[in-house]
Amino acid sequence: MNGYPARAVVDLAAIRGNVASLVEHAPTAQVMAVVKADAYGHGLVPSACAAVEGGATWLGVAQVPEALALRAAGVTAPRVLTWLYAPGAPLREAVEADVDVSVAAPWALDEVVAAARAAGRTARVHLEVDTGLGRNGLTPAQLDDLLPTALRADAEGAAELVGLWSHLAFADEPAHPTVHAQAAVFASAVRKVESAGARLEVRHLANSAATLTAPDLHWDLVRPGIAVYGLSPVPQLGGPDAYGLVPAMTVEAELATVKPVPAGHGVSYAHQYVTPRSTVLGVVPLGYADGIPRHVSGTQDVPGAPVLVGGRRTAIAGRVCMDQVVLDLGPAAADVAGDRVELFGTGADGGPTAQDWADVAGTISYEIVTRIGARVPRVHV
Ligand code: PLP
Repeated sequence: MNGYPARAVVDLAAIRGNVASLVEHAPTAQVMAVVKADAYGHGLVPSACAAVEGGATWLGVAQVPEALALRAAGVTAPRVLTWLYAPGAPLREAVEADVDVSVAAPWALDEVVAAARAAGRTARVHLEVDTGLGRNGLTPAQLDDLLPTALRADAEGAAELVGLWSHLAFADEPAHPTVHAQAAVFASAVRKVESAGARLEVRHLANSAATLTAPDLHWDLVRPGIAVYGLSPVPQLGGPDAYGLVPAMTVEAELATVKPVPAGHGVSYAHQYVTPRSTVLGVVPLGYADGIPRHVSGTQDVPGAPVLVGGRRTAIAGRVCMDQVVLDLGPAAADVAGDRVELFGTGADGGPTAQDWADVAGTISYEIVTRIGARVPRVHV
């Protein structure tokens, strides 16, 4: 958007390089780049194309319309898997668009088979088994019950069973016993399905954390998301550098207002920050409507999220508003309206990262990048 005073700059070379690193981390598996939620806020189609250029042979999304959007944009080369939908989803369109579909509940198999028959094609199905996450997926008992119907649909040409998969609850804590317990349940589900006659093309379990830290869980296909965008899934173990990753998104804005104020000046709603000395305030035209969490507001005692202005770090002062945040630029500030502020990015030159923001907000980097609002233009470079 021309003239917009803020943007999320997305470095597609970083996405390509991150996927290439993931391919190296999982040399015996294929890589599915997870591009749901607008590619974690980075822009669905350009990010997906960059991931494919980097070596991803699959793309993964949650919702069916996200998969259809990829196909409609001409992303035809890699396989695409969609794994989360409710009754009535456009599954016929998915089958017609050559999108693989997950089946996580008995009703879903019925709908997929009906969609395939309506389309006059064979649906490519991945059965999802809940090995212990306690979220979507067939329980092992449901898998037992559904398997004969699924194999019949396969034999009749309505639904080819190409995949079996699951998702981990504690992948970011590689030593957690639940990781091993889930891995064992998954291995037993694989044995069950294969010994019943299914010829699975891909068995998949690993997200970014397991891709980077648990090679024994790679199976045939890994499904990294956050690492594609250059953020560490295990920040307590190592930052992006430790895994050959580079953060792809930099959020920046122009200062809208710069003004001197005296000591004791209340800043933003409820004067949660009061200037401790005469200083210069700067207003950044981004707020919670743009995905800046209110939890990164600052007081004199507890600084808000760090930002970089004119090569130096300062922090958000006072409450985050809907459209703007305020910075205390310091008494000697020479900044002027229009100067660039980096909210978070690669971490180079002392700049903050999405992980730094997550630490201040008490959340994970995923939430910081996925929530950057639709109003903020994405600029792909
Ligand atoms: N697989 C599934 C089913 C997911 O829901 C997600 C994301 O939440 C991923 C893979 C990618 O996870 P991560 O971003 O931690 O790599």
